[in-house]
Amino acid sequence: MRATVMYGAGDVHIENVPDPAVIEPTDAVVRVTRSCICGSDLWPYKTMEHSETGRVMGHEAIGVVEAVGADVRTLKIGDLVVMPFAFSDGTCIFCHQGLQTSCAHGGFFGTVEVAGAQAEAVRVPQADGTLFVLPVGEDDALMPSLLTLSDVMGTGHHAAVAAEVGPGKTVAVVGDGAVGLCGVIAAKRLGAEQIILLGRHADRVALAREFGATDIVSERGSEAVERVRELTDDYGVHSVLECVGLEQSELTAIEIARPGGAVGRVGVPQDETMPASRPAFFNNISVSGGPAPVRAYLEELLPDILEGRIEPGRVFDRVIGLDEVPDGYRAMNEREAIKVMLKP
Ligand SMILES: [Zn+2]
Repeated sequence: MRATVMYGAGDVHIENVPDPAVIEPTDAVVRVTRSCICGSDLWPYKTMEHSETGRVMGHEAIGVVEAVGADVRTLKIGDLVVMPFAFSDGTCIFCHQGLQTSCAHGGFFGTVEVAGAQAEAVRVPQADGTLFVLPVGEDDALMPSLLTLSDVMGTGHHAAVAAEVGPGKTVAVVGDGAVGLCGVIAAKRLGAEQIILLGRHADRVALAREFGATDIVSERGSEAVERVRELTDDYGVHSVLECVGLEQSELTAIEIARPGGAVGRVGVPQDETMPASRPAFFNNISVSGGPAPVRAYLEELLPDILEGRIEPGRVFDRVIGLDEVPDGYRAMNEREAIKVMLKP
């Protein structure tokens, strides 16, 4: 089959690789009908050291089950499924706790160990615990929004949950990428009264407003902190969704939280240490979040998509085939596209 292989920074190729097959009895093989490029794929795209073997990329997908191992109980060939970016057994203590990204038998797609889904097909470990059967056909008009359940919508929701968003609260979302935009949707869905987006790209800001952002702050650093304070009677916000992962964005997130507020982090941190330890301490700010257990949120978010109450699929502004994936990486990296969908 054909797949996206990254060999190093900026070095993405479409190549023939061996077809995925059932290896463990708990595996399934899924023919990919939709996949996409993630903001987090841009970190290796910018920094990955050269590798001779490369890495099959992609951790977001919808597809059709083509084969199942002998121990798979809940799936059958032909099921249309959504694949969360992490696989999980669904039975260990962390899965029961709703923290499938820490599953005792879990892991992540698109790594050196487990091939990814920017490909014609993907092997899914722990298929029963991981895959979720969708109640629609493979070309349903809702496919873009359903695909966001793989990662960005669940991740935006996780940021909102970790930031303790609730009815009547003031919220700030740091970052205007696909996750930040889904964070705006999540904050509105959970009843936030004021939603301030910190972002500066005109197309993204416009979409954020349509998703429910009430204010836009395009300044950065201390000027951004000042602006958020002006917008909140100098208090700062109850909840901050940190959707970037850079030192500056993490610092800003803590500085715009009001005393007793909460920061939910979902941007993969690019540094070993967390900034703003002292302001976080003296203002009693809780800092939470991490890789989103999107599998835990599927049941909750799916009805809102099926019934049209939320449209996170609007973050996709380009659809490509496999051959165009290298250019898709370039377009996202140059901020020419918000998020690129792939129809293999
Ligand atoms: Zn588990």
